[in-house]
Amino acid sequence: MLTAEQGRPPLEPGWVLIDGNTIVGVGEGEPDGPADQVIDATGMLVTPGFVNAHTHLCMIYGRTLGADRDLLSWLSDWQVPLMRALEPRDYALSMELGAVENLKAGNTTICEVFFSPHYEREVDQLAARALDRSGLRSVLFRCSNDVTFFDGFVESRSEVVARTEKLIEAWPLDGRTRVGAGPLVPWGSSEASFRDAVELSATYGVQLHLHTAETPEYNDLVRENTGFSNVEMLAHVGALGPGVMLNHCVHLSERDIQLIAEAGSPVIHDPTSNMLLASGVAPLPKLREAGIPLGLACDGPACNNGQDMFETMKYAALLQKAVTRQPGVVVAEEVFRMATHGGARAIGLGDRLGQLRPGYLADLVLTDLRAPHLTPAHDPLVALVYSARAADVHTVLVDGRVVVRNRVLTTLDEERVVREAGDRARRARATL
Ligand SMILES: [Zn+2]
Repeated sequence: MLTAEQGRPPLEPGWVLIDGNTIVGVGEGEPDGPADQVIDATGMLVTPGFVNAHTHLCMIYGRTLGADRDLLSWLSDWQVPLMRALEPRDYALSMELGAVENLKAGNTTICEVFFSPHYEREVDQLAARALDRSGLRSVLFRCSNDVTFFDGFVESRSEVVARTEKLIEAWPLDGRTRVGAGPLVPWGSSEASFRDAVELSATYGVQLHLHTAETPEYNDLVRENTGFSNVEMLAHVGALGPGVMLNHCVHLSERDIQLIAEAGSPVIHDPTSNMLLASGVAPLPKLREAGIPLGLACDGPACNNGQDMFETMKYAALLQKAVTRQPGVVVAEEVFRMATHGGARAIGLGDRLGQLRPGYLADLVLTDLRAPHLTPAHDPLVALVYSARAADVHTVLVDGRVVVRNRVLTTLDEERVVREAGDRARRARATL
């Protein structure tokens, strides 16, 4: 068992005692006290659940479409037209399909960075309800732009505020399903709309989640509009701080890094999407050295093609080794902690989630090590990061509830979800 506490060695054999949704004991050897229910983890590696800290399940119908293109042409030529063809039912199905994939991969928490050209039909509410039904822990960030994005996706400033408030009020702040907000792309919103988001965050205590410095083109567009770099613009409108998650942060100046560090914003790293869309390589070691809290994410199923945090951990470490030619620059333990406690900290739950410790929420993953590609596993942490895959996940608990048992989802009918979502995605594509 790996607790994800810094420096704590594996517990062999380890045990976890859970009461309701909370971990009440963790140890090695014989467990403390009796239990009503026992889950035998023989041959498994027990870890905290992964926090997939940035995804777009709302784009899941676009998986495999428009591969091998840069970000803006991939969006304009393929993803945006498909998203326009969606109907309300498709939003519930997209969330369900994405939830099945994430839970079976051991991702117990996701940050869904939601956007849609159909907000007038309350698809954000539909999406939140579907995520909640799935048993995932999630933060649904309701995102849009008030000045420019693709046709049909722009809302007025007042619509953004009113509709975001309505969604926030529908979901408790401390529940398993929570709501956040934020402009979707940094070049698409007015300064006033950024300030609205900051005010919503302060009024309601919700987090913001912002695509930041993803590509040089994003930086150029922000500079054309405002005269600032992306991060300087955020500092200018007050949109930096511990409650503002910055996603990507690939193209940063030294000054940008300093501003992020001073404000305490967490940065989420998406190596697979950055590689697939040829966005670049985020300066992970510099961000770490500046003391910036770091989380890890797959990004959407359409800009990654999967939701596998094992692969994401491996790529995060390998990418930095390859570009710096230093094998120790980012190591297995660091990416494992980014994928668990780092993400939990980024969503403001660092004192309750992402480690196996008494008082923490009972979100656990049992990864089956009894497989040829995991034999031998002399070092369980290295096996987890460099050898294991999403398909090795055997059992998953969220909030103390078994949501995946022996690779089968207990909360939704996987076969129905895959069939219906696949059929409807093919039909939506046929209308393009
Ligand atoms: Zn994104």
